[in-house]
Amino acid sequence: MRLFLLNSINITMNKVLIVGQGIAGTSIGFTLHKKQVDVTWIDQPSMSQASRIASGLYNPIVLKRMRMVHLAEAFLSNLDVFYRDLEAFINTQFYFPSDIYRVLHDAEEQNNWYNLKDNKKWSAFLGDIIHDVNVQNSPFGLGIVQQTGWCNTALLLEGFQQKMKNHIIEDVFQHDELSIEDGTVAYKNMTFDAVVFAEGWRAAMDNPFYPKDVFRPSKGELLTVELEEDKAFDKILHFKHFLIPLEKKGHFKTGATYVHGDLSEKITESSKAELLKSLKTVYRGSVNTIKQDVGIRAATKDRKPIIGQHPKFNNIYFLNGLGSRSILMAPYLSKSLANLMLEQTPVDPSIDINRFSFLT
Ligand SMILES: Cc1cc2nc3c(=O)[nH]c(=O)nc-3n(C[C@H](O)[C@H](O)[C@H](O)COP(=O)(O)OP(=O)(O)OC[C@H]3O[C@@H](n4cnc5c(N)ncnc54)[C@H](O)[C@@H]3O)c2cc1C
Repeated sequence: MRLFLLNSINITMNKVLIVGQGIAGTSIGFTLHKKQVDVTWIDQPSMSQASRIASGLYNPIVLKRMRMVHLAEAFLSNLDVFYRDLEAFINTQFYFPSDIYRVLHDAEEQNNWYNLKDNKKWSAFLGDIIHDVNVQNSPFGLGIVQQTGWCNTALLLEGFQQKMKNHIIEDVFQHDELSIEDGTVAYKNMTFDAVVFAEGWRAAMDNPFYPKDVFRPSKGELLTVELEEDKAFDKILHFKHFLIPLEKKGHFKTGATYVHGDLSEKITESSKAELLKSLKTVYRGSVNTIKQDVGIRAATKDRKPIIGQHPKFNNIYFLNGLGSRSILMAPYLSKSLANLMLEQTPVDPSIDINRFSFLT
């Protein structure tokens, strides 16, 4: 039995309830499960598509602005081990490390690339500039970004769901049915030592335990397309959007769009047109649109993720705010949150939920 002294209250951490089985809920649950914690998930997949439809890229650089992501090196520190472990656990390959090729739009971007590449902080991430006949309108070349890749999130989540099916309850979690005691939380007829809220953007609408005014959800759409193999660049390309080659030859994902203020999870013709128009700037060949997907990103107002513990209710924890970088951030955030829950190791203050005020 695990026993911890927390704010003068003895609490155990043997049984944990996780609300949500997207990237966030899966990652923290897997991390706790590996530490012998008995984990139960409550998840109603129809409430949010984001994790299932995401492009699944991980990349420590904000390519549009050529800035390093906050805590980039920490995020990369256990990423490879985490996803390889998870692949072994569910016996499915979903993790594909591969370079990203960024279109350099002008001489200034090209010069900037060479300058950054010589900088100690950047040299591990930026490679050479190459040229490829299959990328249209790229006279200044393609800069290679390293320590990047993508995960097939649908395979990851489906595989995990199958493996842990006896621990996952498919139902809508009702926040007002949670009762909190010193040291335990009760939900319907079940009792747990703690609950982790990992409901993605829905938390902004449904979860009364969060501080107010934390989230800035944004809608995103992407396309799965079939391109002419001999005319398409066969590696991950960043232009205005991304083009990602999938496991099936000739199939790619392209996206994603960003729209604020629309939380409808409905695909639109305007996003499809935007993505096809953008694709035509780098690819000249026929395009067969196979699928259009939509999801809502759980972004926060300071664009940083959220982990931590409720200041008043010791057995309520949070993992959210993964924005557009869930694959990059989830392994480190899960490790940090598990260390907080099991060993009371404080989390990095810049991503601690307590940077927001819980006062209403
Ligand atoms: C178009 C698009 C492209 C993207 N591309 C990338 C990318 O390339 N790389 C990347 O890292 N990220 C990407 N993202 C972002 C990524 O999808 C999100 O950051 C991530 O999915 C968030 O995961 P989550 O588990 O926090 O939330 P969610 O994916 O929203 O999962 C939450 C889960 O909880 C369930 N749930 C919510 N409320 C309840 C409730 N009350 N009861 C029961 N279940 C509930 C939901 O149904 C869902 O299953 C993209 C997002 C979009 C929309």
